[in-house]
Amino acid sequence: MFSVSRSLCRRNIQRSVTKNYFAVRSMRNHCCTWQRKRLLVLQNTVDCRKLQCSILQKCYFRTTQSLHIPPFVAIFLRPALRIGAFLMGRRIKKWWARKSEKEKEEYKQWVKDRSNIILGCFGLYGLILFIYYITHLETDPLTKRSRFIIFNKEQEKQLGKMVLEVHLEAHKKDLVPKTHPAYKRLLRVIEKILTANKDLKSIRDTHWTLTVIDTPLSNSYILPGGNIFVSLDILKIIENDDQLGIVLAHEMAHSLLSHSLETLSDQLLWDFLIAIPILLVWALFPDVAAAIIHFIGERIVNIMYKLPYSRILENEADEVGLRLASKACIDIREAVVFWATMRTLTEMHLLPPELPWISSHPSHADREKKLNEEMTKAIELRKDSGCPILPAVDPRNKFYERSIKEQEIYFRQKGIIL
Ligand SMILES: [Zn+2]
Repeated sequence: MFSVSRSLCRRNIQRSVTKNYFAVRSMRNHCCTWQRKRLLVLQNTVDCRKLQCSILQKCYFRTTQSLHIPPFVAIFLRPALRIGAFLMGRRIKKWWARKSEKEKEEYKQWVKDRSNIILGCFGLYGLILFIYYITHLETDPLTKRSRFIIFNKEQEKQLGKMVLEVHLEAHKKDLVPKTHPAYKRLLRVIEKILTANKDLKSIRDTHWTLTVIDTPLSNSYILPGGNIFVSLDILKIIENDDQLGIVLAHEMAHSLLSHSLETLSDQLLWDFLIAIPILLVWALFPDVAAAIIHFIGERIVNIMYKLPYSRILENEADEVGLRLASKACIDIREAVVFWATMRTLTEMHLLPPELPWISSHPSHADREKKLNEEMTKAIELRKDSGCPILPAVDPRNKFYERSIKEQEIYFRQKGIIL
């Protein structure tokens, strides 16, 4: 999928990349949270839609017409389903409480007589959801993974615009100007990754934007539609442009893989499924017991399903991001060093402790290990992409050879810690 393309695109991309724009907004973030103070912002846009190069692309066809729900409908439908189920459940409970014993017995008998029909209705509801699910499975061209998505790319762009406006407004005091050196550095690395991966249609079809903000959080994330958001503080942890390329390629991979749409689709389907149990819990149990069951049920679903799913998507973005970075001739071994640094800073209690079971992101150590496992393939891809040979000294070895004390001294020298 990551075939190398020869083309005339390079010049076009560089020209088009000078077109600027603004953005801010997030959905998935990663990295740490360090407290700081400062203020500035940068932004710019890398408009890849201008890169209409004559490159042959693989086409992916659907045999059935999808029913795409507008994303903003999904966003409002989600809480409406839950609140509706809760209110309906309580209403049924109050209605039932007003009935006499005789009436209750009559209703119970009525339900008993029609138990097959009632069960059939639940079954039909489940069947409709199942059919909707299987008819909206798509195979991602980059990972070949089949996933449930009920939105299309056009809708993602609309959603991205909406969310971007909200974030720009929220961060209007934190925006770092595009003349800021950090902004120029970020833009340069993004352009490098885009140019090297221009053979991917999804790269060319995305209207990439970059916004840099100065907030007390060390963060980077991407909004739907390719709006990259980076805080200035994260640059303190990043040692060099190779590590920066890894971080940015990870965010870009989220966009290429439409992870925000996939998550929203999955959550909406889940809300349709969970609405019935919520209704039943609030209809059958007293309020306090229902609230406890509801709360515990939600936590269990989070820990058993939603958070592991989110961690899978993060690992996937790491993997695809590594491929993007490989093609951009980045020293991808720095990916391991970056996450090893994060792990070490956490072990030194300089970053917040990790709670892997209740985290939406894999642990730093897990990412370090997985990226290390991917390294042989990534280095091969980098070589096949016509990149110069990697420096002989492996930065991973340099990192692992240092003792904890030496790490601390090194981090201070690099300004990673004060
Ligand atoms: Zn991520």
